[in-house]
Amino acid sequence: MFQWKRAGGYGKQNKSDCIEMTSFPYVDAHCHLSTDRIVSHGFGYSNSDSFNYVEYRDVLRCVMSNNQFDLMKVKKIRNNSMLIRSFGIHPWYSHLFTLKDDIGKLEHYREVLQWKDEQEFQKLVEALPPPLKLQQYIDDNFNANEFDVIGEIGLDKLFRLPDNGFYTSVDTGRLTRTQVKISHQVNVFHAMLQLSKQYQLPISVHDVKCHQVLFESVYDILGDQDAINICLHSYTGSVEMLGHFWFKKFNQNRVFLSFSGFINFSNSATAMPLLQSIPKESILTETDFPIDLQTEQELQLEIKKVYNGIREILQFESEDALRALVYNNTQRFLKRDVEQ
Ligand SMILES: [Zn+2]
Repeated sequence: MFQWKRAGGYGKQNKSDCIEMTSFPYVDAHCHLSTDRIVSHGFGYSNSDSFNYVEYRDVLRCVMSNNQFDLMKVKKIRNNSMLIRSFGIHPWYSHLFTLKDDIGKLEHYREVLQWKDEQEFQKLVEALPPPLKLQQYIDDNFNANEFDVIGEIGLDKLFRLPDNGFYTSVDTGRLTRTQVKISHQVNVFHAMLQLSKQYQLPISVHDVKCHQVLFESVYDILGDQDAINICLHSYTGSVEMLGHFWFKKFNQNRVFLSFSGFINFSNSATAMPLLQSIPKESILTETDFPIDLQTEQELQLEIKKVYNGIREILQFESEDALRALVYNNTQRFLKRDVEQ
């Protein structure tokens, strides 16, 4: 997930921006529902029914959960062939969870955060909720019948906590200099990988500047789990890392890259070497957007931007051909039957 601000200004849309009906839907293999500040500040779970999400049947969507707040929304969307639910803990929210059985709030945050300014740390702790026990959270909320993917999970070396304690989708506070220790992020990440292993579910992974540790974690826990597929979402590592590690050490048909407009197509030079180095069968597409905060038209424009970018770089003769490829890739990623 990237930190998203409602920008507006997509300009006027015309007829050609509308999705034409073909036999293969677009795929948004990694999107979200918003983490809501008002709900979040209750430190509890949302019982609110008042959120909007798009159920547009010409886009196959895989909706991530990041934390205890958006999870309640994800659970409310209908899990069907076009809307897939995913269960995860994003590294940006890993500090909200403890692996200990019995630990006080202050002691927990002292253990998992690293900070430069004691006063800033104290203020953050005041703003933060008591940590949830990770295993309890999984036991209470994860049900294999309700989720088809484990995500968003991963590691992030760069992010800093906002002064309200954790990111919300809109109106996040000022950034502090406080971070979550990588060792804690790794512990939470490992627990989620174990969940994937236990239920044989594919994973959707976030990686910022932790390429080697993240690879080793996935390889250690899922290396021999041939039925579990891996989606590296908005991948920002090197081509070499893909070639020497991901596609070499794993059976290559287990590894997928899902391309986003914001990260991979911020300019086409970013996506090009990746697209040219991986098998076509590994290509997925995504917005990484909170779908309840965007209009359907904005979502369509964003996903179309990704398809157009891929089509141009790989010189697909038609959009239909690319749509067929990505849709079939997604079906394989999700371990569903492949339409030929
Ligand atoms: Zn995401």
